[in-house]
Amino acid sequence: MGREDSVSNGLITTATLACVAVLAMASVLLGWQKGRGGGRVQALIYEFQHRCALPLHLLRKISEAMTLEMTAGLTTESGSSMPMLPTFVEKMPTGNEKGVYYAVDLGGTNFRVLRVLLGGREKRVMKQEFEEVAIPHPLMVGTSVELYDFIAKKLTDFVSRESSEFSTHAAAGARELGLTFSFPISQHSINSGLLIMWTKGFKIADGVGQDVVQALQQAMNRQHGPKLRVAALVNDTVGTMAGGRYFDPDVMIGIILGTGTNACYFERADNVHKLQNGKPLPKTGSMVYNMEWGAFWSSHIPTTHVDEQLDAESINPGQQLYEKMIGGMYLGDIVRRMLLKLAREASLFSGEVPQQLMTPFVLGTPEVSKMHADESIDLRVVAKTLAKIGIHRTDLHTRRAVHDVCDIVTLRSARLAAAGITGILRKIGRDGKNGEYTRTVIAMDGGLYEHYAKFRIYIHAALTELLGEEAVKYVVVEIFKDGSGIGATLLAACHSQHG
Ligand code: ADP
Ligand code: MG
Repeated sequence: MGREDSVSNGLITTATLACVAVLAMASVLLGWQKGRGGGRVQALIYEFQHRCALPLHLLRKISEAMTLEMTAGLTTESGSSMPMLPTFVEKMPTGNEKGVYYAVDLGGTNFRVLRVLLGGREKRVMKQEFEEVAIPHPLMVGTSVELYDFIAKKLTDFVSRESSEFSTHAAAGARELGLTFSFPISQHSINSGLLIMWTKGFKIADGVGQDVVQALQQAMNRQHGPKLRVAALVNDTVGTMAGGRYFDPDVMIGIILGTGTNACYFERADNVHKLQNGKPLPKTGSMVYNMEWGAFWSSHIPTTHVDEQLDAESINPGQQLYEKMIGGMYLGDIVRRMLLKLAREASLFSGEVPQQLMTPFVLGTPEVSKMHADESIDLRVVAKTLAKIGIHRTDLHTRRAVHDVCDIVTLRSARLAAAGITGILRKIGRDGKNGEYTRTVIAMDGGLYEHYAKFRIYIHAALTELLGEEAVKYVVVEIFKDGSGIGATLLAACHSQHG
């Protein structure tokens, strides 16, 4: 069903949340009391906490490494853990855009199609409709034709249901489309680019190296549907940034904290020295760079045996290591693996090792978030959530241990993300260290940030630590829910052939 919705524009200032974080952090230390077999559990949890810890001095080093790796990625082809991809987005929506535009947004978990009616400076987004479906798992590991046919079919059906409220405002000729593709792409222009690799649980061998716009266009032709032209191929970070900029001119950075994680920002052309496809990039103006920061790595990042296992058993071992410690796809599984270790080595669940805990991804990040938010005396939400995955009759000590593990994993994730954000702020001179304070807005999207309150609190606490009480006041995170979709329609409008 098509639904109407306006972009939700939540504003969270960093400073207000900092003190709550201190309280929340204390929960780990209070968590486990010595009890039956508890000594060993406690010892393992303390060890895990110690290995995951990110005290300020370490956070700073990671943040500085992020800045350095950004510079390295802009100047060399393979001298950085991050590819720092040019997006060919050199202009952002101004608010003057008018007409009917479409977007397809392929995330890590969800797939959306949307249409908007843009009414120019005064009226802005007059109407929008979208449909969202979860991506069926077989498509994530099948063939590229299957995936693109699925996308094309949904899109064709959606476009053919366009009501007259939209169509009376549409320009003649093909409808134009922004294609949001949340995977690393080597772009050649605003509307072409080759897929570098799949991430976030996708593994489709024949999709790599393909031009994604061409592949979708071919699938659209197979549908014999309405005529569509892809005007802009955008990463979801870039779409989110464009969606944010449409409403707030101070948006400088786009960040995704959802299934995976990534960031983009505006970079001055004269800071970029590497060639793109053998050609130098323009040396004037600015361009948005898709950092693909999920690939970031620094030796200062604390890892545990659990992380090593998760990576080794993943479908992309050795890749996206920062993402594997931050993204919503993985946090639940880090917790599951640690609980399994506690069950095996310290009899966490009364001596039995629950079979269920051996199933990868049986525990999702939404469940972790629910358990972590449990403030009841007897931790009954933790008990209920564990029961849902088949672990019944847990005592309070066990629940506390589970709660503590959730806290440790999420705290590390949030602090790592905050270090990354500060690294970008430093790179663009917005960390306040030069004594200048300029309001800087981060356009944020993603289910992890949006729905996980403690995660948000931890990020803002770490930003306050890193930037200081004064500078942090000028850094504003605005949630643009599904901003990547709206942003893609706006970028399609900016790059329209209809002018
Ligand atoms: P995508 O990354 O596919 O674009 P979203 O931005 O909607 O999709 O993010 C979905 C991800 O957000 C899920 O994979 C999950 O990890 C995380 N998430 C969703 N709901 C919650 C929640 N209540 N608590 C924590 N994480 C959540
Ligand atoms: Mg998304």
